[in-house]
Amino acid sequence: MKTLRGIGVSSGYAVGKAIVIKEIERDLNSAVYTTAEEEIKKFQDAVSVYTKNTNELIEQLTKTAGKKNAEILEGHLVMLSDPFMLSQINDSIAGGNTAVKATDSVCNGFYDMFSSVDDEMMKQRASDILDIKNSIIGILCGDKGVAIEDVPKGSILIAKDFTPSMTSRINRENVYAVIAEVGSVTSHSAILARAIDIPAVLSVKDASSLIKDGDLLAIDGSKGKILFEPDQKTVAEYEKMRDRYFEEKKSLTEYFGKPTVTKSGIKKAVYGNIGKPEDAENVLHNGGEGIGLFRTEFLFMDRPSLPSEEEQFEAYSTVAKTMGEKEVIIRTLDIGGDKAVSYLEIPREDNPFLGYRAIRYCLDNPDIFKVQLRALLRAAYFGNIKIMLPLITDLNEVEKAKKLILECEAELENEGALFKKNVPLGVMIETPAAVLIADELAQIADFFSIGTNDLTGYVMAVDRGNGKVSKLYDVQKPAVLKAIEMTIKSAKKAGIPVGMCGEAAADSALIPMLIKWGLDEFSVTPNLILKTRKEICEFD
Ligand code: PEP
Ligand code: MG
Repeated sequence: MKTLRGIGVSSGYAVGKAIVIKEIERDLNSAVYTTAEEEIKKFQDAVSVYTKNTNELIEQLTKTAGKKNAEILEGHLVMLSDPFMLSQINDSIAGGNTAVKATDSVCNGFYDMFSSVDDEMMKQRASDILDIKNSIIGILCGDKGVAIEDVPKGSILIAKDFTPSMTSRINRENVYAVIAEVGSVTSHSAILARAIDIPAVLSVKDASSLIKDGDLLAIDGSKGKILFEPDQKTVAEYEKMRDRYFEEKKSLTEYFGKPTVTKSGIKKAVYGNIGKPEDAENVLHNGGEGIGLFRTEFLFMDRPSLPSEEEQFEAYSTVAKTMGEKEVIIRTLDIGGDKAVSYLEIPREDNPFLGYRAIRYCLDNPDIFKVQLRALLRAAYFGNIKIMLPLITDLNEVEKAKKLILECEAELENEGALFKKNVPLGVMIETPAAVLIADELAQIADFFSIGTNDLTGYVMAVDRGNGKVSKLYDVQKPAVLKAIEMTIKSAKKAGIPVGMCGEAAADSALIPMLIKWGLDEFSVTPNLILKTRKEICEFD
């Protein structure tokens, strides 16, 4: 059986017949130039039609994918109203180009500019510009476009790129999955596919030429696998997996908006872990009661220089506002180890996991750390933010961080800035040292969050990347469990809340023990929130 692979960006299984959406080939030179006024009018009329069509799609998408996701299309309208772009199109028309040619060349210029920047957001902009260009040119040329909304039941759509406008026209009843040649987990097509809950595989090289109309395909949307002409046994297997997936999903949706309470009435909370401000929406979409870990290092990675205080403030306050009254635990910069930030020029180390990383780097570089702390205190004014320190091994580190926070408070007060005082300050328990002094740490910290990903490695003294010893990297080893139990006990004794934001918080085998020991908050990957709540609610 021939198999194609891509990036699985929206989970689920599907078996269906391929419909390949061909790009319309147009002869852009066939349009006849009338007068500049006429061509400008043609362009403006096309923009009006586009705006009307897009507003209709936004309304539709708001119903199927939610308001926040529909904003992706609103972004297209904003891009198209950019005065710089419009003036370039007008100039191009005045210079003798038809409305079609002017739209094509100006949009291509923007596309080249955006796609040349090595940044995911800019690449996304480039793809949005192409979507806008094709729609406007389609209107100018009188194309009907591909009737995505009319494809028969059981279709699997294949395209070079699944643009937001295409995705929003999908009829979920008839389309079982989508495949595209470009895109990544964070591209708009992926976000929309997840929002309308349709299996999607992106970045499948040459998909639209390798797959032919009518081919029978079986799709695994989480593994990114596409099987060609599967035999009967495989079809039955995929259909069974699809049904099981739906059933499980349905049984989980019952837990959306429900409190997390064990059968014996003990109240717990399930939060989500995020790496980017826009992921906060995903936590709410998955029924999260808060954010238990915002890994801020992702704001510092994949860029040429440090993010400014304003940029950080924007990111943290966006999350705080999105979450409203719900708690948002933001972890200060945790770089080093496996998270490299090239422009910080941290020299290569023999033992990076035992080296110059996280809180150690931040306390040594207060100029960098204070920018983050100031942004956090200012953002805290707009929501329920708590600050969390990573890789703590000594009381002294918490004291030093507190001192810097006080300095930032005094500065902000002097400047008359809007900010919050006494923002709760918590500690990640992810080193054996922190476990052993947890009683003392609990006296100076407002909360604990157990980072089992690092804790397991440090307790077991194991490098999980080393195949020869990686089997020792197991959160269920007695030593790791004991460390977790000791930490929870210390927090309870001091009367401070204790959560867990390592992967183990969603481990079904561990959840009963964590409840028994008294863990208050389980912070997990957003798509595991409902499953974790279900398991907690079923615990007796
Ligand atoms: C952890 O160590 O468990 C944790 C949550 O932090 P990270 O995975 O970002 O190191
Ligand atoms: Mg960690």
